[in-house]
Amino acid sequence: MRDLRGARTLVRRGVLADDLVADVDSRAPAGSVAEADVTLDAFDGGVAVTGKVSGTWEGECRRCLCSLDGEVVTEVREIFRRGGGEQEGTYAMGEDHVNLREMVLDALFVSLPLLPLCREDCRGICAVCGADLNVAPCDCEPVRVDPRWSGLDVLRAQEAGMAQEPGGP
Ligand SMILES: [Zn+2]
Ligand SMILES: [Zn+2]
Repeated sequence: MRDLRGARTLVRRGVLADDLVADVDSRAPAGSVAEADVTLDAFDGGVAVTGKVSGTWEGECRRCLCSLDGEVVTEVREIFRRGGGEQEGTYAMGEDHVNLREMVLDALFVSLPLLPLCREDCRGICAVCGADLNVAPCDCEPVRVDPRWSGLDVLRAQEAGMAQEPGGP
């Protein structure tokens, strides 16, 4: 532990060996670079790691399926302990070193966008003729939304209703 006494700031970069997939629509691809820019602060029996983790993601718009990519940056504040582990909400560490890999992958995983959109008002593609409705409307009859999302529509309607209600007394 002697080496770790006191706070140290370091930057570690790594290349993802495999796709890190949080959702069918977005992933941190194999070969992309993930970076940890963190301060290590040793205490008796462990190390506190704070800072940020960044990486890149790619995916498809969930409505029109066009390719998307971007960067993710997320704050981390984790404890590494000898004998630590998931059960106690910490990361395990070696006798005199911490391996940031697992923490970096976890941080990226939870910050990948779920159900990404190319833009908030993407019109998607026509389920009947396949036309990109962002380019031009088509003449197909409108189809019902995918029933898997109908629950979300109810939620949205409720939110909208709540938003329209006048404020309380
Ligand atoms: Zn789109
Ligand atoms: Zn159509």
